[in-house]
Amino acid sequence: MTKKVLLNVDYTNDFIAEDGALTCGKPGQEIEEYIVSITKQFIDNKDEVIFAIDGHLENDTYHPETKLYPPHNIVGTAGRELYGELRHVWEENKEKPNVHWMDKTRYSAFVGTNLELMLRERDIREIHIVGCCTDICVLHTAVDAYGKGFEIVIHEKGVASFNQKGHEWALDHFVNCLNAKVVKN
Ligand code: ZN
Repeated sequence: MTKKVLLNVDYTNDFIAEDGALTCGKPGQEIEEYIVSITKQFIDNKDEVIFAIDGHLENDTYHPETKLYPPHNIVGTAGRELYGELRHVWEENKEKPNVHWMDKTRYSAFVGTNLELMLRERDIREIHIVGCCTDICVLHTAVDAYGKGFEIVIHEKGVASFNQKGHEWALDHFVNCLNAKVVKN
């Protein structure tokens, strides 16, 4: 059986909640049920689940995103906590050996983290991705996964963006340029 991992990207209050600092709003909130259910499924099947979560410092003048976005996912704030029911899934399962939290500081979960080492150690070649934003952190993570030779599965009902055009473009890009499988339901 192929070993696989589910990367849960940035499904936090700042990216999803109505009053989040950089929120996707409704499209983000609408994928909650799907993300919760697929996350539980992976955990129960003893597949790996990694919460790859943006973490920034306040007034970090050296960080490239400082010029682009308002402060978001600041370490230690409620904005960086997982949104809605997913937070409970994390809390209830975080001690399990196949459930991991991974701080990241860039769009891609591969940049500045030990994600690649973790996957190679476990002989995992298939990466499933859910979260947000489809055309930013999910995209950049998928691009790096492709470059490193992993197989990619994107769950269409589990990804969202504040930019609908960007969302749709990215879904095409996953298939046409990253040879990803886009699961429709
Ligand atoms: Zn960020």
